Amino acid sequence: MPARDHFHSVIRIGPVQIGVRRDRHGHTKHSAVCTADRCGWSADYSSSSAAQLAARTHRCRIAH
Ligand SMILES: [Zn+2]
Repeated sequence: MPARDHFHSVIRIGPVQIGVRRDRHGHTKHSAVCTADRCGWSADYSSSSAAQLAARTHRCRIAH
């Protein structure tokens, strides 16, 4: 389970939630996390457009 507590500006595309957070180096990361149980897909991107593109193209086998 990712730590969503540190997310802000969370948006949602389908089952995927995108939140902005800072990593331990102080860099802003856009994390896309699939909220479907048992999917477990997540990825970090350096821009929100990249994260949103990934969210839209995420082919979730759990959620529809
Ligand atoms: Zn998924």
